Amino acid sequence: MKINGKTTTCGLIGNPVEHTLSPVIHNNLAKMLGDNLVYVPFLVENEALEDAVKGGHALHIRGMNVTVPHKSAVIPHLCAIDSLAEKIGAVNTLVYQKDGYKGYNTDMSGLLRAMKTEGIRIKDENVLLLGAGGAARAVAYLCAAEGAKKIYICNRTLQKAEEIAAEIGEQVEGASLVALKYEEMEELTETSFLAIQCTSVGLHPNVSDVVLADGPVYDKIHTGVDLIYRPYETQFMKHVKAHGGKTMNGLKMLLYQGIIAYELWNDCTVSETQADSILQMMKEEMGIYE
Ligand code: NAP
Repeated sequence: MKINGKTTTCGLIGNPVEHTLSPVIHNNLAKMLGDNLVYVPFLVENEALEDAVKGGHALHIRGMNVTVPHKSAVIPHLCAIDSLAEKIGAVNTLVYQKDGYKGYNTDMSGLLRAMKTEGIRIKDENVLLLGAGGAARAVAYLCAAEGAKKIYICNRTLQKAEEIAAEIGEQVEGASLVALKYEEMEELTETSFLAIQCTSVGLHPNVSDVVLADGPVYDKIHTGVDLIYRPYETQFMKHVKAHGGKTMNGLKMLLYQGIIAYELWNDCTVSETQADSILQMMKEEMGIYE
């Protein structure tokens, strides 16, 4: 593309940022849609976050994605926040406004859109949610809001699962959430689960690690979604597959959170065909050829 006086800038703030796939998403979307826009990663240390947000606004950066460790810390520096992001307590997308940035959470709408493209539904499902960190909290909210029948939140630190269950139980009317330890899972009487792996266990380079050891509980998992996409197939996904279940990794979630952010920044709609092309480019960048 030709960078000139009319080029719009967007970017990512986080730490670290060097392995991000987001430039692949946004710069290729810009090329595909004929937008004069460039997207760059910015390394931002914790103590520089406020300056980075204010500086981005002063420079008329139209939009920024926010990644680890700033997703919650950025909230006090915004001029407005979307109600979903406020309820989740995490922001991953900033949209330029006259007085500052408005924060959104496109991680969850991205996950939902990704699951829909794979024919995976949440409504009326018994959900096994593995983990109780930032991502798990947001996924628990999504599952409750989308009408899951029951949500079991399993975590090494039980107290964190209990806190999420209590908070979301209050936020979403009619939601049913239960906190439990991994060892207690075998005692569940339901026979069919949608499982969503939201821990960092199994992330590259620890690819043989898995938070839920192989066992009879996997026979009850009809679909296993892992938020991790490096490796492309996690040990959790391998266990689900070996027991006859369907799997999805986190790459499409990353794709769609980016697409929804791009749509917010540019007031446009990205088609499924365009989304598929970008997914292929992300896979090529990762060296995945299927
Ligand atoms: P986080 O807040 O740090 O939470 C980490 C979770 O992993 C906690 O539940 C923690 O349990 C658990 N955990 C870590 N090490 C463990 C171990 N050895 N044994 C058992 N449990 C362990 O992280 P996060 O921000 O929620 O992110 C979680 C994962 O989601 C990461 O892999 C991230 O890459 C992925 N993610 C993907 C996308 C995407 O677009 N695909 C977006 C967001 C996040 P304790 O509470 O007991 O410590």
